[in-house]
Amino acid sequence: MASYFVDKKGFLAFLKGVIKKYPLYGTVERDGFPVFKKIEEPEELVLSAKPTHLSPKEFLFPPRELLLRFNLEDGKAEPVVEAREQVIMGLHPCDIHAIGLLDRVFSHGRGDVNYLERRKKTILIGTECLPDEFCFCQSLGTMDADEGFDLFFHELKRGYLVRVGTEKGRRLLKRYTKPEKAAKKHLEEVKAHREKKLKGFTRCLDARKEELPLVYAGSYEHPLWERIGSICYGCGSCNHVCPTCYCFDVRDDVTLDLKEARRYRVWDGCTLEDFAKVAGGHNFRKDRSERLRHRFNRKFRYLADRFDGLFCVGCGRCSRACLVGINITDVTNELIKDAKS
Ligand code: SF4
Ligand code: SF4
Repeated sequence: MASYFVDKKGFLAFLKGVIKKYPLYGTVERDGFPVFKKIEEPEELVLSAKPTHLSPKEFLFPPRELLLRFNLEDGKAEPVVEAREQVIMGLHPCDIHAIGLLDRVFSHGRGDVNYLERRKKTILIGTECLPDEFCFCQSLGTMDADEGFDLFFHELKRGYLVRVGTEKGRRLLKRYTKPEKAAKKHLEEVKAHREKKLKGFTRCLDARKEELPLVYAGSYEHPLWERIGSICYGCGSCNHVCPTCYCFDVRDDVTLDLKEARRYRVWDGCTLEDFAKVAGGHNFRKDRSERLRHRFNRKFRYLADRFDGLFCVGCGRCSRACLVGINITDVTNELIKDAKS
């Protein structure tokens, strides 16, 4: 993988060029927190080391997406694929791993045309980060990203070290800047940042990631599910902020003149009460404890079997968003402790 050095002036020229050609979504500071938004001017972009509260999955898998248009008069249906070229910048390594998992899900079987078309047209640019008190990606092997991006920027004292992940990324970088080959001192700065990052974690899982499916398999009847279920609001925030949660519901809207209908998909969440409700009002995961158990098992067990990879990347967003303080590392470590005793 080639690495280049771009100075601060070159970085600005790169951003200007990208903004002229593509919609660029990147991180800005709002109320002291980094959030993704469309970048209009290069100066707006803040490549924050802090994690965003909301994940970038919405740019590939929007919260509400039109799939079909029906003409109710002639009975014809027209599929809709709303995909255009875009660049997402400021993706931390865990988010890059999460997008890799979404790619696996949406390519499975016949493949999801809407996602895959959007993904094909999207350029992914990663940036380095530092952990906060909820991050635990170092326990799940997602602290570094060696692939899955087109470009990856490491901020240095006097510029950026840029790793090239794809030919598309290389062309983009060279179109708008004149990058130099990275020198040893630049690589050493990157290494020093990695060491600082590793020392910054305050949370970790007390088992190897390979052991987690087994830990969860043996914890189905654990009393912890009742305990956390009794305080959970069933609000769905943990699902919605999670970069790897991909469940959706499909809804049809009919226009008032009854001439047209539209089919949408909207994000759904397994912690919401209606998620497992079926015809006749039956709900096969009525209790919040059952729904939480299901969510955690999806992350560490069910999807690992199906897609060959844990579906938690350790971003800590679910713990950060939970109003009652249900923390994924505490939950998992309690199960690990009892599984090992
Ligand atoms: S389960 Fe929580 S920590 Fe894991 S990827 Fe989802 S939001 Fe991040
Ligand atoms: S965010 Fe917390 S309270 Fe809301 S559903 Fe998830 S675990 Fe329950």
